[in-house]
Amino acid sequence: MDLLIQLNADGSLDLSNHPKVQARLQAMQMSADLFTSSAALEAFQERFHSEEACADFLLARKWPHGFSCSRCSHTTAFRITTRRLPLLQCVQCHYQASPTVDTIMESSSTDLRKWFTALFIVSSTDSSITARRLSAFIQVTYKTAWLMLRKIRQSITQADAAVKLTGAVSLDIAHCGDDLIPTLYGESDVFPVLIGKAATRLDQPDYVKIQMVSESHYEDGRVLPQGIKTFHDQHIASTAAVTTSTFGIGARRNTVQTDPLVKQASAWMQRTFLGLKKQHLQHYLNEFTWRLNTKLRKLPLFASLLKLCATTPATTYAALLKQY
Ligand SMILES: [Zn+2]
Repeated sequence: MDLLIQLNADGSLDLSNHPKVQARLQAMQMSADLFTSSAALEAFQERFHSEEACADFLLARKWPHGFSCSRCSHTTAFRITTRRLPLLQCVQCHYQASPTVDTIMESSSTDLRKWFTALFIVSSTDSSITARRLSAFIQVTYKTAWLMLRKIRQSITQADAAVKLTGAVSLDIAHCGDDLIPTLYGESDVFPVLIGKAATRLDQPDYVKIQMVSESHYEDGRVLPQGIKTFHDQHIASTAAVTTSTFGIGARRNTVQTDPLVKQASAWMQRTFLGLKKQHLQHYLNEFTWRLNTKLRKLPLFASLLKLCATTPATTYAALLKQY
């Protein structure tokens, strides 16, 4: 049967009319319905019942010990309530601080409640969510939902980039291809990813990273020394004790078994996304490892994501388009 192909706003393929895709969408709908009726959603909606409640949360996060002006360090401010969002105006220098300054929500005209709901949805399911579904759920345009999810994933990526693996670190390789990433784009190339696991106990990692390897750093499935060095430099603390799997690192694809973590990441992506382009994949791998690492550290996902997004400066639409 011929596929009915349309393009989404971001240039990705829309294959929603294909029977196989319809079946997947139905399964996704069922899993998505689980969170719409949950008690957690009700508790969330009660806590963040208004724009002001969301703004107050951000202000309290920014100044947990009371206001301190970012210009002059004065500690008293007026609250201005005539705008869409409350502002704090420094009594001394009159600088006006918005609750969204230095957050991913800065300069966004989308209601804070919709932002918070998006963060809640992303963090309250084991899967993730597509821009199309998010746009329907919080009633924003597809482009707005796309941008919100990009900014959320960008903050996850930035947070991960700031973490280096420490202690006993194992480094291994796995290969991704059509069989592992959800692709409807006909991309058939196979490429390696490096998996770093930091562990205080051998059987239980504390923190995991799965990183794609730059195309110039692998050849015929082998990761070149420069690829290993780049991972070391960017993701492993100099004090870490690193164990490298010589079997995996140097082997060609047909002699390498896929790492169970990559299989888990693959299953996670397959549950939600019909197709992902290779150029976007790192951000989704980062979302997968963020979920895993947050659980390994026994931290609550929503509170962690809210904190992350409330402390990551916004990336502009133009900058995001360049990255994606
Ligand atoms: Zn001031």
